[in-house]
Amino acid sequence: MSIATAAEIAQAIRNVPDFPKPGIQFKDITPVLADAHLFSSSIDLLTEGFAPGSIDAVVGIDARGFIFAAAAAKKLEAGFIPVRKKGKLPYTTIEQDYALEYGHATVAIHTDALKPGARVLLLDDLLATGGTAAAAAALVQKLGAHIVGIGFVIELKFLHGREKLAGLPVRSLVTY
Ligand code: AMP
Repeated sequence: MSIATAAEIAQAIRNVPDFPKPGIQFKDITPVLADAHLFSSSIDLLTEGFAPGSIDAVVGIDARGFIFAAAAAKKLEAGFIPVRKKGKLPYTTIEQDYALEYGHATVAIHTDALKPGARVLLLDDLLATGGTAAAAAALVQKLGAHIVGIGFVIELKFLHGREKLAGLPVRSLVTY
């Protein structure tokens, strides 16, 4: 079967108004995951241009990013590395703070997760303000690894998250 288009993936994304709080239009990707063809196509589109063996690790961002990153890692014959919220990883970590609308958050990665010079594809489900992805990218770079791609299923363009990822090769499948 041919790969589904980004437009077909977009049709399956469910908008849930006022979740988790009033004013947020939550983009629910679970219908994409539940459809074998759309899920598999989303992985094909996120990994387009990367041959198996050309990437050392796919880094996924806690928590929905794990789903796409793990499947992409399998396809690219690469390892999977989690960037998690602070306090979840058991071994020694480095951490990166970033600003939220109110307050701040922290993400972490294991100190031995990536070798210097490793070629990394970074994935998450959605790019909003870009704080989370920029913090994850900073962790990857602090370990000396090289980001060869950053991919999102969804990009909320009006939040200008790409500006926080300037100079990095960003790809998104569906934009709002
Ligand atoms: P940001 O740091 O603002 O780019 O936020 C990105 C993270 O928050 C991603 O891991 C998304 O899963 C989540 N997120 C932010 N806004 C939304 C939204 N409208 N719908 C679904 N997830 C969102």
